[in-house]
Amino acid sequence: MKRHLLFLVFLCSLNLISAQVFDVETLKLSGSKDKRINLVIISEGYQSSELNQFITDASKVSNDMFLESPFSEYADYFNVFAIKVPSNESGADHPGTSTDPLESTISPAVPIQTVDTYFNATYDSFGFHRLLYYEIDGANANNTEAKIMMVLADNLPEYDAVVLLVNSDEYGGSGGNFAMSYSGFYAPDVAMHEMAHSLFSLIDEYFPIDETLAVEGINMTQETDPNLVKWKNWIGIDGVGIYQHEDDDGNPKPWYRPHQSCKMRRVDWDFCAVCKEGMIEKIHDLVSPIEAFTPNNITVNNPTLPLDVELTLIKPIPNTLTSQWTLNGSNFANDVDDISLTSTDLTEGTNTLTVVVHDDSSLLKVDNHDMSSHVYTVTWTINYSSLGIEDIQSERADYSISLYPNPVSSILNLKVEGANTEELKVDILSLEGKTIKKFRISNVSGERVIVDDLSQGIYLINFYANNALIDSKEFVKQ
Ligand SMILES: [Zn+2]
Repeated sequence: MKRHLLFLVFLCSLNLISAQVFDVETLKLSGSKDKRINLVIISEGYQSSELNQFITDASKVSNDMFLESPFSEYADYFNVFAIKVPSNESGADHPGTSTDPLESTISPAVPIQTVDTYFNATYDSFGFHRLLYYEIDGANANNTEAKIMMVLADNLPEYDAVVLLVNSDEYGGSGGNFAMSYSGFYAPDVAMHEMAHSLFSLIDEYFPIDETLAVEGINMTQETDPNLVKWKNWIGIDGVGIYQHEDDDGNPKPWYRPHQSCKMRRVDWDFCAVCKEGMIEKIHDLVSPIEAFTPNNITVNNPTLPLDVELTLIKPIPNTLTSQWTLNGSNFANDVDDISLTSTDLTEGTNTLTVVVHDDSSLLKVDNHDMSSHVYTVTWTINYSSLGIEDIQSERADYSISLYPNPVSSILNLKVEGANTEELKVDILSLEGKTIKKFRISNVSGERVIVDDLSQGIYLINFYANNALIDSKEFVKQ
């Protein structure tokens, strides 16, 4: 995976900064960088002589992270790299200008100090002692972020997520564009919490002191109706409910969180089910579970029979991927990574083979939900004659399908996103299997389906590409 470094291109064109190449160590290699989420841990406040300690600290962050859900289940979707950037002095600035009490119960206070470090990390940012950030007030944050991006561009341009690991035993961290963590006991937890902000767009589940930071998000809302709240599929499961926020003085606020003990509230707790689901959705946005497939040439001439067709999948642990193989509109095989086609399977003329891969993890409850579900497909078009296979063309397509609102009273909105998506055939069926409506949907415009005429009840909606069923959802007509 790769981010666009447009800002960087602009900077380079001005010749402001020359390339700086540092040692990069691979801490975890699951696969090719363009097919994984690349987490980059960068040292801050470590002198050259301390860079071995940095690798020890970064390895602990990486190792502990992949023991915790949902990183543990999706460990093979991540690579982790450490960039060894030396600083002239150790630690982080501590101006002593914050007014909140020190976190002295969980870590020792560092003395008031100013140290010369590469990214100028400092405690007391924005007036909060434990807010460890690369600028005291954000006034020059753009400059530091440009510096971080230069280090990334020169050393690991394929990055997806960044943690600046600061050589300090004193508790602190921040989750801006680049996550930051101290290097002490809770470093893996702080790194996960802050990365959950910067990579997964999760919100703190404690109430922010700055109320303008209270916004709608995956794990924060003002909606109190359990039938409408965005995590409605989880209500009553694993402690998920609708819990009202209070400020530090115990005053109730018109904002709600899904759980009472989530890592987004306190770093030493686990992520709640709603946050895990949001993180997995983002993982699926970034990485297709179909790493490769064969045959994969655009045109393959005269392959011999039997024809072996194979997927290479990036599997969660335990494997929750399902696969459905459809040949010429009929189910051919389920939940296998490879199939073999013989002459009796093929008809003369054009044959269409499609495999549809879903993640069926119990950590996802996105069906019937306004969140999108991800569908990954490969379609092979096989031209076959009495002489054998003439050619095979293959094409992959990733779809993200969403449906809202649900329950619906009059207009159901359908949206299909993804590259290479063509028109999908859509059927609405009763639970008994009777087809009620049929239509087509393209990925460009989406579709507003009038359902005024349906009687109240539960319906199935099926999506087909190349005559293969790629997704099926339920919705409730009110
Ligand atoms: Zn949560």
